[in-house]
Amino acid sequence: MVRRELMGAVEMSRQEAARQGEVMYAKPEAAAAFKAFFADPTQENAIRLLEEAPPCRRYFEACCPGGLFSFYKDLGIDQKPHLRFIGEDGFYPAWVMRDGRWVFQRTLITVGASMSGVAEMAAERVLGSDQVIVWVPPLGKPRGRQEELEALRQLAMMRLRCYGEDCNLSSTPVTKCVGQTGGGPEGWRLSCPHCAEVVGPDLEPVIAERIVARWEEAGRPALEDSGACSLFASTPAINDLRAWLAKNDDPSNLELAYLGQQMWPDIVSMLRSLDEPA
Ligand SMILES: [Zn+2]
Repeated sequence: MVRRELMGAVEMSRQEAARQGEVMYAKPEAAAAFKAFFADPTQENAIRLLEEAPPCRRYFEACCPGGLFSFYKDLGIDQKPHLRFIGEDGFYPAWVMRDGRWVFQRTLITVGASMSGVAEMAAERVLGSDQVIVWVPPLGKPRGRQEELEALRQLAMMRLRCYGEDCNLSSTPVTKCVGQTGGGPEGWRLSCPHCAEVVGPDLEPVIAERIVARWEEAGRPALEDSGACSLFASTPAINDLRAWLAKNDDPSNLELAYLGQQMWPDIVSMLRSLDEPA
């Protein structure tokens, strides 16, 4: 079981490195330990792996009796059920019309106690889980240069902000914030050319009061929750946004943006509308 989970994690890192035009590098001793353990997951090889690559300990713990992965296995659930990030295993929420558009990513629900770190660890395996916005590719349309240009065009219509050092991006062309192109815009990592931190739209205008106003206007639709996690099977739809806000004290602008985008045709029109005075 540990072997399967670890192989999945290593494969994800490898693919991620390949996407960024890099080759994954591991210390020769650690690489040899991985190889030995994958070929023959004995206790001896496991101990060697833990010595050479201590972060793997979290995987072993999760697979121990009482650990997260064992827990799911005991329930007879092979595929760990959890709230998925957009793009994870090709998952796109129903409310995304598939014309090819940027959407706000879900936020990570962190968990404490013995499960602490597991959600983050699982999220690391999902491309784009750390991104503020991610591209949802068009459905049933030819992919290629045209799609890339459309993704860039939409990006250029947003006021982008550096989430790290808050570097001034006002004169930075959007192409500079898009790392490696190729593999489709859903693989782009938006980052600041100055400090390498995540870049996304300016969320300052996204405030609860305006999102609630829109929700009332739209006839109080049910909204999909903004959290994603490797632990919870599902989160009920938000049927009463006011009650949700009262319960979730001070939600982040990103959580509000996740909810808000479900009520506009796209996030560019949402951000423009929120920029205007109420
Ligand atoms: Zn920056």
